[in-house]
Amino acid sequence: MTQATRTPPVHAPMDQFDARNGELLVGGIPLAQLAARVGQTPFYAYDRQLLTARVQQLRTALPTGIKLHYAMKANPMPALVGHMAGLVDGIDVASAGELKVALDAGADPAEISFAGPGKRDAELHQAVAAGILINVESFREVPALATASQALGLPARVAVRVNPDFELKASGMKMGGGPKQFGVDAEAVPELLAAIGEAGLAFEGFHLFAGSQNLKPEAIVEAQQKSFALACRLAEHAPAPVRFLNLGGGFGIPYFPGEARLDLSAIADNLAQIQADAARSLPEASLVIELGRYFVGEAGIYVCRVLDRKVSRGHTYLVTDGGLHHHLSASGNFGQIIRKNYPVAIGNRMDAPAGEAVSIVGPLCTPLDILGDKMALPTACEGDFVVIYQSGAYGASASPQSFLGHPAIAEVLV
Ligand SMILES: *Cc1c(COP(=O)(O)O)cnc(C)c1O
Repeated sequence: MTQATRTPPVHAPMDQFDARNGELLVGGIPLAQLAARVGQTPFYAYDRQLLTARVQQLRTALPTGIKLHYAMKANPMPALVGHMAGLVDGIDVASAGELKVALDAGADPAEISFAGPGKRDAELHQAVAAGILINVESFREVPALATASQALGLPARVAVRVNPDFELKASGMKMGGGPKQFGVDAEAVPELLAAIGEAGLAFEGFHLFAGSQNLKPEAIVEAQQKSFALACRLAEHAPAPVRFLNLGGGFGIPYFPGEARLDLSAIADNLAQIQADAARSLPEASLVIELGRYFVGEAGIYVCRVLDRKVSRGHTYLVTDGGLHHHLSASGNFGQIIRKNYPVAIGNRMDAPAGEAVSIVGPLCTPLDILGDKMALPTACEGDFVVIYQSGAYGASASPQSFLGHPAIAEVLV
C-alpha cells in the first residue's frame, strides 16, 4: 500500500489516548494537571483503564481456557503489577526481587512461575518456600531444588524450560533456537526429565519461549504449533503428566513507522486447534501464554519537558529534561539494530499541525541521547511537554538511571 502511493511509512495512530482542547489526557486528567500532581518531569504515566481493556480484548479474542500470564519484567512497578494481578491468571517472574513484588501484589503463588538462566540457590530456596512453579533451565538447578525441598519439607514444583530446535521467525529479539543461555536444549530434555524424576521434584510441565516483539501472526502461529508438537514429543519422557504447558508469547506492538497492530484472529484460531489437540494428547494440561509488552506497552507514555530550543547549522534541537537514562528503548539503544523513532507528540499542542522537523534530545553528554530524530512535529517552545508513546514496557526499569547523575524518574498509575 505504502509502496503503491510512495508515501513514507507512518506510525500507527496512537488513538488509545484522548485529547481535549489540544491537551493530551491520561485517565481523563489533562497532562499539565497530571505533571503538577506528579510534581516533576520527566515521568512515566500508565493508564489503568487501558491495561484493563487490553486484557479484556485478549480474553475476547482468544479461546476460553487459554490462561494469560503477565511477564512482569516488562514493567515491574508495584502498583501496576497489583492491577495486573487482578486481571490475568498468573505472573511470570525472573528473579526473587520480582517474586516479592508479585506476592505483595496478591498474585496466587500456584499461578506464579519463575524463569531465568542464572537462578541463585537462595532464590530457588525462596521459590520453593513460596510454593511457585520453577522453570528449570539447567541441570544444576535439579540438586539445588532437591536440597531446598528437603530442607523446607515442601515439594519443589517444576516445569522444564526448553530451548527449542527452531526459532521464532521475524522476531525483534530471538530467545530460542540454536545455542542459547535460556532453557535446556530440546535434545537434552529427556535426560533432564529423568534427573527430575530421580530427585523427586514435582514435575508439572513445559515452558517454551521462542522470542519477543513479533508483529507477524503467521510466525507466531508457526512457533506455537512447533512448540506444542515438541512438548508432546517430550511429554513421553516426563515423570508425571503434563499439567501446565506455557507456549510463550512474543506478541509485539507497533513502535516504528510502517508497523501496524497485531491481528489476533489467526493466532486465536490456531490456539483453538492446539487446545483441541491437547485435550486428546495432554488431557491434564492447561495452556498458558505469557506476555509482557503486549499487555502494558501501549498503556504507558513517557513525559518530559523542553528545556531549550537550539539551532545548529540550520537544524533544530529540542533539548529536554528526559533522555536515554530514563528511556533507553526510545533512544534506540535497547536491542535495536537501526535506530528508529518511537511515536512522539507535543502533549500540549495536540491540535496543532506539524510545523517543523526537529530532533528531540536529552541532557546527557553523549550523541546516543536521542528521543526523536528529524521528526515533523508542531512547533514547540520551552516548557512544552514532549510525550513518547508506546512506553509502558521496558522503560524505567530497563534504563541506566544513574548515568550522569540526573534526578530519578517518577512513575504514576492513573
Ligand atoms: C521477556 C520475557 C517475556 C516477555 O516478553 P515480551 O516481549 O515483553 O512479551 C516472556 N517470557 C519470557 C521467558 C521472557 O524472558
